[in-house]
Amino acid sequence: MHSSEDSVPQRGVPMSSPDLTDAERQAVLEVLQTRRLSIGPQLEAFERAVAEYVGARHAIGVSSGTAALHLAVRALGIGDTDRVITTPFSFVASANVLLYERAVPVFVDVDPRTGNLDSEQVQQAAEALDGHSGEGDWLPPRGAPEGGQLKAVLTVDVFGQPADYDALQAVAQAHDLRLIEDSCEALGAVYRQRPAGTLGDLGAFAFYPNKQITTGEGGMIVTQDDELAGLVRSMRNQGRAPGDTWLEHTYLGYNYRMSELNAALGRVQMGRLDELLERREQVAGWYQERLDEIPRVERLSIMPSTTRMSWFVYVIRLDADVERGALAQRLEKLGIPSRPYFRPIHLQPFYRERFGYEPGAFPVAEDLGRRSLALPYSGVMTEAQVDQVCAALREALAAS
Ligand SMILES: *Cc1c(COP(=O)(O)O)cnc(C)c1O
Repeated sequence: MHSSEDSVPQRGVPMSSPDLTDAERQAVLEVLQTRRLSIGPQLEAFERAVAEYVGARHAIGVSSGTAALHLAVRALGIGDTDRVITTPFSFVASANVLLYERAVPVFVDVDPRTGNLDSEQVQQAAEALDGHSGEGDWLPPRGAPEGGQLKAVLTVDVFGQPADYDALQAVAQAHDLRLIEDSCEALGAVYRQRPAGTLGDLGAFAFYPNKQITTGEGGMIVTQDDELAGLVRSMRNQGRAPGDTWLEHTYLGYNYRMSELNAALGRVQMGRLDELLERREQVAGWYQERLDEIPRVERLSIMPSTTRMSWFVYVIRLDADVERGALAQRLEKLGIPSRPYFRPIHLQPFYRERFGYEPGAFPVAEDLGRRSLALPYSGVMTEAQVDQVCAALREALAAS
C-alpha cells in the first residue's frame, strides 16, 4: 500500500518525523573533528544518560533495538529447544530474536484494551509448560521439539504503554522464569512509578527514526545485573572480555557496536527527552479531542497502572464494519498516509510455515491487527496538521 517507509506525500502530512535541532547537528559534526568514531566518550555519555533516566545500574548501547533484544536472549543463555512465552501482537523482531537462537516462541493472546500480553493467559501457559501437562494447548502446532524447557517470558510494551508487570513478575517468580522487557516502543513510560525497561531482568530500547528519540539506527540494553551487563558488553564487541586485547575473544560475539556519530545524536536527544515526550503528549491530546467527535473510531485504553504513557505511534481502532484497506486508500488520496498496525507475528508467512499457525489461533491479536490503523504522528506535528488528518478521516469514513 505504501511505496516506501519514508514517503512523504506532496501536500500531505508525513507518517512520522524525527525531532532534530542544531544541537544534534553540532554534536555529530564535533565527533567528525576527532579520530574516535566508535566506542568512545559519546557512547559512554549516552549510556550514562539512559541509565540515569530509567534508574538502571547498567546501560549498554548497541546498533539496533533488534540487536539489543538478541543480546538479551543470548545473555540469559536461551538456546536450542528452549521455550519463551511472548506476544503475537508486536513488531516481528521481538519474536525473531528467539528464532536466531533456535528457541521456540510460545505465543499467548493479548488484552483487547491495550494490545499487551494477557497476564492471566501467560500464567495459564506457564503452568502448563512448566509441568508439561496440557502443554499442547499452548505450543505452536508444529516446530516445537519435545521436552523443551520453558525459560523466560518476553513482554512488549506496545505503543508506549507498559504491560501488566505486577502479574507478569509474579508468574516469572512462581515458575523461576527470566523476564525480558521489549521497551523498544516505550522509552520514558512509567508503570506504577517504575520506569519501563527496568521491569524485567533485561530491558531493550530502540532508536530508529520513528521512535521517541533517534540515533538514526541504534538500541540500548538496561539491567541491574552486573554479570548480565558484562556479558552483553562483551558480546556487542566481538566477544572481547575485560582485559582481552583487540584479537582476543573470550565469547562468541557480534559486531553490534554503536558508532560515536550515532551516540552523539542520542546523547543530545536524551537531554531533550522530557521535552520530546511532552510534545508527543500534546499531539496525542489534540488527536484525542477530535477523535472523540468521530463515530466508528475507538482510541487505545490507557490503564490506571500506566503512570506515564510514552506515546510512540497514534493508533486508532475502526469499527468492524469499516473496510480498512479502502479507508487507507481514500486517506492516501487526501494526502494522509496511514499504516495497518500490527499484522500479528504468528500470521507472518515465515511463522506460518515453520510453526503451522492458521488464522484464528489468537483471536484478540488478530482482531486488533485487522482493525488498527496508525495515523501520522510525531512530536513536531502542528495542531493544524492534526486537524487536517482528522478532517480527512471524517471524509474518508463518510465514504466507507
Ligand atoms: C522498533 C522495535 C524493535 C526493533 O528496533 P530496531 O531498532 O528497528 O531493530 C523491536 N521491538 C519493537 C516492539 C519495536 O517497536
